[in-house]
Amino acid sequence: MNEAQEDVLKPLVFRVDESTPRVVQSVLLERGWDKFDEQHQDVEDWNLYWRSSSFRMAEYVNIKPWQRLNHHPGTTNLTRKDCLAKHLAHMRRLYGESLYEFTPLTFVMPKDYTKFVAKYFKEKQDLGTKPSYWICKPAELSGGRGIIIFSDIRDLMFKGSYVVQKYICNPLLVGRYKCDLRIYVCVTGFKPLTIYMYQEGLVRFATEKFDLSNLEDYYSHLTNSSINKLGVSYQKIKEVVGHGCKWTLSRFFSYLRNWDVDDLLLRQKINHMVILTVLAMAPSVPVANNCFELFGFDILIDDNLKPWLLEVNYNPALTLDCSTDVSVKRSLVHDIIELVYLNGLRSEEKKSGRMSPGNSVVSLASSNQSELCTAPDSPSYASLIQFTTTTRTAGSKGNPSVQHLCPKHTRTSQLREMISRQSRLLAKEAAKSKPRHKARHSPRKMLSPHKAKGPAGILPEAGSTPNDHAGNFVLIFPFNKATFGASRNGLNVKRIIQELQKLMNK
Ligand code: ADP
Repeated sequence: MNEAQEDVLKPLVFRVDESTPRVVQSVLLERGWDKFDEQHQDVEDWNLYWRSSSFRMAEYVNIKPWQRLNHHPGTTNLTRKDCLAKHLAHMRRLYGESLYEFTPLTFVMPKDYTKFVAKYFKEKQDLGTKPSYWICKPAELSGGRGIIIFSDIRDLMFKGSYVVQKYICNPLLVGRYKCDLRIYVCVTGFKPLTIYMYQEGLVRFATEKFDLSNLEDYYSHLTNSSINKLGVSYQKIKEVVGHGCKWTLSRFFSYLRNWDVDDLLLRQKINHMVILTVLAMAPSVPVANNCFELFGFDILIDDNLKPWLLEVNYNPALTLDCSTDVSVKRSLVHDIIELVYLNGLRSEEKKSGRMSPGNSVVSLASSNQSELCTAPDSPSYASLIQFTTTTRTAGSKGNPSVQHLCPKHTRTSQLREMISRQSRLLAKEAAKSKPRHKARHSPRKMLSPHKAKGPAGILPEAGSTPNDHAGNFVLIFPFNKATFGASRNGLNVKRIIQELQKLMNK
């Protein structure tokens, strides 16, 4: 075996710091990756850097083609509660209230204090003796920290940046417990915009019964698991909910189906909401290559089955507190790696018709349940979102779960095999055109799509159609030919909104 062959068979290398969730490291090791060793490895000799804090601009600028970062610059525009509120308010002004009426009325403090006071007293007058409910949340904190729920303005206290929001006081209750959904969304690029939604997720429960007469009981009103796992009722078997404070999303949708709820419609509404939210900030995001961002969307469903966006989380928690966490989050991390690392290879394989047996994509184009993506002019998208809305199979123990249309590639051997197969092709091409650089300390350099015009590349080409799914991640944007076009060569938000409106009006 020559040096080049040895290089391409080397495991991929991940870089972490003390903030990286443990599950990320353990999944990567399980997949056969090596951990970056600063002492003994070249400073550029890594493929994925995953950490909680954002990266410095220099790190984005100096990124090498074989490297990936788990954050994109500028994404906190979406994840700070005040920035999110401002972006969504801007979109409401541009495209109309009705399109963006999925967030509760929000005031950014202290800027909107006077507006809030006026609204508060107006509502008080309209409601007469009935109370109105509000929630005040620090703009930058998470985990329910610093939150106050109030109906009397005299109880409002804030210091620094806060948002005050209409409190949704008619949440859908399971048993008699409030819950919200944690939806995982991975944006693999902002220019062109490419959004994937994870089909599994978490439902997080409050651990005390919902009770509007006691606004100070956080175990009844907040669904954060960091709070509820400390509650006295956490371990108790609660009506319908059972032990703990989490369900999988598939269990929740199955529960809804038992109540004759159209869960597909609910999923579609959530898809639209996610796209509209990401669109609100996408134009302001700087161009950066080789980055992806995992967002955690917190969505509350009210008793009219209307989903409300509460917030978008940066670094959604990947701690494993219970068996539900383990099953959802471990697969999530596996699928993220699939999505960001194997997408390019897989799409190249598809293009060249060399699908390996384990990679076959099952077309659902014949299914008749797709309303979300029915662009007749775009066969390649026809099966795409149908997958989002139609796949359900009997999972373990009869629980419906999200179907894996594509078997997982979790084994190192498979990963290396795919990479080395593609790399060998590239190596051949590179050898033909020019003398090879010494690659000992940059084993993936030859996989650079920029350097080699070969049939393979880790990243999909800029103009190529993104893969429709990876594991349980399903592409939700672009969703047809028109949106694909409108997201290239500058993001045409107006055009995209028109397409979305068509879809939503169907
Ligand atoms: P944090 O970042 O601190 O988790 P969130 O906005 O997610 O802040 O709010 C924490 C919890 O408070 C949510 O999970 C939800 O249970 C509840 N909550 C937040 N906003 C509202 C709202 N407008 N109406 C009803 N409940 C809310």
